[in-house]
Amino acid sequence: MPTYTIACDICGLEKDIFRTVSEHGTWPKHCGTKMRQVLQPPQIMADIQPFRAPVIDITTGKRADIRSRNQLKEFERQNHCHQIGDDVRPRKTITGPEGLKSDLHSAVQQAKAKHGRRF
Ligand SMILES: [Zn+2]
Repeated sequence: MPTYTIACDICGLEKDIFRTVSEHGTWPKHCGTKMRQVLQPPQIMADIQPFRAPVIDITTGKRADIRSRNQLKEFERQNHCHQIGDDVRPRKTITGPEGLKSDLHSAVQQAKAKHGRRF
């Protein structure tokens, strides 16, 4: 079911609504007038940047050069694998109890003093 963006010419309200193709043009009223469709530019997604697959292709025994989403999809299907990890997550800062870092540092210094360079 396509999504259409419609707008009210009176107050300027814009919203997205779902309509079947046969319902196209049956826009609701707002401010006493029928809303109108707002034409949106087509949504085009750029293809992926070429890359070498990190796993061996079972059909060729080599790492494949992936050049398109379709090729990647086919590669994943043939090799029973799925690409994950494209998302970038912020690094989690691990914090310990107050003073832990200096306690560890002084413990290491004491061990070095006691055992010399063997430590
Ligand atoms: Zn309105």
